[in-house]
Amino acid sequence: MRLLVTGGAGYVGSVVATRLLELGHQVVVLDDLSTGNREAVPAGAEFVHGEVGADTAGVLAAHGPFDAVLHFAAMSLVGESVTDPDKYWHGNVVAGIALLDAMCEAGVGTLVFSSTAATYGEPDRVPIVETAPTAPTNPYGATKLAIDHAITSYAHARGLGAVSLRYFNVAGAYGGAGENRVVETHLIPLVLQAALGHRPDIAIFGTDYPTADGTAVRDYIHVADLADAHVLALEAAESGTHRIYNLGSGEGFSVREVIDTCKQVTGIDFPVRIAERRAGDPAVLIASSQRAVDELGWRPQRTDLTQVVADAWEYTRALGERAHSAPR
Ligand code: UDP
Repeated sequence: MRLLVTGGAGYVGSVVATRLLELGHQVVVLDDLSTGNREAVPAGAEFVHGEVGADTAGVLAAHGPFDAVLHFAAMSLVGESVTDPDKYWHGNVVAGIALLDAMCEAGVGTLVFSSTAATYGEPDRVPIVETAPTAPTNPYGATKLAIDHAITSYAHARGLGAVSLRYFNVAGAYGGAGENRVVETHLIPLVLQAALGHRPDIAIFGTDYPTADGTAVRDYIHVADLADAHVLALEAAESGTHRIYNLGSGEGFSVREVIDTCKQVTGIDFPVRIAERRAGDPAVLIASSQRAVDELGWRPQRTDLTQVVADAWEYTRALGERAHSAPR
């Protein structure tokens, strides 16, 4: 298939693009490099430097015909979405609608969309199933939910075949691609940077959550398993329907447990400090991915947190060495 991957210079987008190329698909990456890296775009993909909102229509016309779009390009930081909501409503929703319109105009009928667990907000019960109420606790989740609603109505009215994948906490690395953001806010890469001595310590955001050890619990999914789900979603998309799947490992780990696993995997002890809760963070997010298992035939292979952290560590260490040996 010929595929447009928006955000293919970002973490998840670059891993999925790598996987699609391995499977013999043709990949065009559209990315504005606002948070991604040009070097992350896998060799073998065509790269277009541009914005989803302004440039998708032109790219679909000039580089097509395309069989499908995989839409990753988005703002995705909970804390930033609370302080800069305009960036999120424009970058995620306004640009997302422009992408849907451009797809309809160009006759591209299949979409795989990066949605998020943040669409559910603070869940009534875990694991979270796809029929759970959606009540985002932050603008990030609200913007992703808004696009999910738009996709549903475009699927029904315009015959789009769409699949939204609601990721829980993605981590790990695959095929030389991993987490490498200019501004890093995610737990595992930050902890590994502390292990490397690139930051003085790691802060635990809140120790007064209603959880076993008082720190927030998340469900960490290996990015390679996530990539496999995108491939299955692409095959499963059906005109006129919008399917939604949660993707996680089904197991929750507290911030303290993640830090302990990182200490164990790296063999390095580093300072840990207690900080205030971060605005907009729910206490516990754990996925039920049963629907993806039943309907997509998804079979996650790397569900052990130790393996997730080990793969992330290998990538982070290599990145640190490259930065160290780069000419100044
Ligand atoms: N977290 C933390 N210290 C950090 C970064 C994150 O305690 O330096 C916590 C954060 O509050 C959340 C969990 O780790 O409870 C996972 O956060 P992350 O930003 O990785 O993903 P999110 O759950 O926000 O998508």
